[in-house]
Amino acid sequence: MEPGALLPDALATLDSEQPPVRFIPTPSAPYFQQHRAARLLEQASAPGHVDEMSAEAPSLPHAFGARVLMWKQDPSVGEIGTRRAYLPGPVLAGPRDARIAPGSPGIDPVEPNAFGDFVTQPDTPQFDAVHTFAVVRQTLTMYQRALLGAGVDMPLPWQWNTSMDTRPLTVFPHGLPNVMNAFYSRTQACLKFGDFIPNGVTAGASAPESARVYTCRSFDIVAHETAHAVLDGLKPLWLQADAPPQTGGLHEAFGDLTAIFLALSQLDQCEAVIAQTKAHLHDQTFLSDIAEQFGMALGGTTGLRNADNDLTLGQAGTQVHAISQVFTGAIYDVLADMFAHERNPALDDCAAVLHRVAGYLRGLLLRALIGAPERAASYVDVVNEMLRIVAEDGKPDIYAAFIRNQFARRDVVEPPPHGSAAAIGGEQLLPKVCDAPGARQDRRACCGTMNLPEYRKVGLVLDREAQALAQWCAANGRLGECTLAPGPATPAPRPEQS
Ligand SMILES: [Zn+2]
Repeated sequence: MEPGALLPDALATLDSEQPPVRFIPTPSAPYFQQHRAARLLEQASAPGHVDEMSAEAPSLPHAFGARVLMWKQDPSVGEIGTRRAYLPGPVLAGPRDARIAPGSPGIDPVEPNAFGDFVTQPDTPQFDAVHTFAVVRQTLTMYQRALLGAGVDMPLPWQWNTSMDTRPLTVFPHGLPNVMNAFYSRTQACLKFGDFIPNGVTAGASAPESARVYTCRSFDIVAHETAHAVLDGLKPLWLQADAPPQTGGLHEAFGDLTAIFLALSQLDQCEAVIAQTKAHLHDQTFLSDIAEQFGMALGGTTGLRNADNDLTLGQAGTQVHAISQVFTGAIYDVLADMFAHERNPALDDCAAVLHRVAGYLRGLLLRALIGAPERAASYVDVVNEMLRIVAEDGKPDIYAAFIRNQFARRDVVEPPPHGSAAAIGGEQLLPKVCDAPGARQDRRACCGTMNLPEYRKVGLVLDREAQALAQWCAANGRLGECTLAPGPATPAPRPEQS
C-alpha cells in the first residue's frame, strides 16, 4: 500500500482520473472495531500498556505467558478441532518451563514466535511437542489452583523432587515408536507416548502413514499419564504393584477423571457438553468417552474407558482396570448429581455452573486423595475424606448424600440405616466390598504406567536371585575376587520406598 492512500485528499480525487489501484474504500466503523479487537488478540501489548497486576509486579516482563494451538480432544474428534489456549506462566523454547521439559533426543525444540507464542501446524512433530507440553502444563496448573483455592499452597512436587533435586518432568511425545501405549516412569522422570498404525491397516512399506495414531495427540491420554505423575508425587506407595487392588484402582481412576476435569476446566468445553447433551450429563458425549482415537484404534466403538458406567465393586474382582471404572463412574455420577442440583437456567448459564461444579469436585477429590492413608488406601478411605471435607467446606448436606449414595450404589460403602445422618455429621461409613486379604492386583488391562517393571520391584527380585547365586557359589568353593554377583542385566531402579 502506498503512503497516503487513506488521506482525505486522495479520497477526494475518486471521481477524477485517479488510477483504480489507489482506490481505498473508507473503512466502516464496525470494521475498525473488529480490526481493533483482532489486533488486541494477535499482538502483544505495547510496552507501557500494562494492566494493574503487571504494574504491581514490575519484575515480570509484559505480555507474560504464551499462547498455544492444541487439540481440544484428539484429531478424531473433528467437530471440536483445535483451540488456542493461553498459558499464563513463562514458557521457553522447547516448549519448557521450570516443571516440564522436552525429552532429548526427540523433536527439535520449537521456538516461540515474536510474541512468545507457540502456534504450529497440526499433524506435525512441532505441534505434537506444543500440544503435549500444554496438556501437561494445564493439568499441573489445574491441580495447583484446586489446592490454592482450598487454602493449600503447595507446588505439587514430582516424586523425585527434594531440596537438592528439582528436576522437571521430561516429556517425550514421540518416545515410543510403534508402541500402542504411553506411560509415566518415575525412574526415568518422564512421560513417554507411543505411536502405531492400527490393526487392519495394511502393514509394510505401503502402509499409509496417515493412519498412524499418535497417543500424544490425545488430550485425554496426556492428561491421564500426567495424573499418574501428579499422584505419584503425593503418594509414592500407591503405584506399587503389591499395593491392594483398590489402591491401584485409585491411580487409574485419577488418570481418567483428570482427563474429564481438565476438559471441564475450559469454558468452551463446558459449553460444548451442555449444548450437545442439553445439560443432561448422562447423555452420550465426548466427555465420558475417554481417549476416543486411541479407543477406536483398539477396535472399540467408544473411548478407552467409559466414565458413565454402572459397574459395581462386586463385579470388578481384582482387575484394576475394572475397579478403576467403578470409582471413575461414581465420581462422574456425583458430578452429574451436583450439577443437576446447582443448575438453575433462570439464574445462571448451565456451562458456567458445570465449570464451577467440576472445579469444586476436582479439588475435593484431590484433597481427599491427599488425606487418604499413605499405604494401602481403599475407596472407602477416600469417600470418608470427601465427606469430611464437604462438611468442613460448609457445603449443603445433599452434597454428602450424593457422595454416599453413589458409592453405596456401587457397593463401595454400606448404606447408612434409613434416616441416619452417618458421615454427614462426621461418622465414618463402612466398606461394603473390600479387597480380599493378600489380594494381588491384576493390571493387564491398565495403561503402560501400571505395567512398567519398575513398580513391581522386579529389581529386588533379580537382586535376590543374584545374591542367592553368589551364596551358592561361595558355599561350593567357586570363589572369585568379589563374592557378590554383578547386578541384574536390566537397569536397576532407584531404591524403592516401602
Ligand atoms: Zn493409567
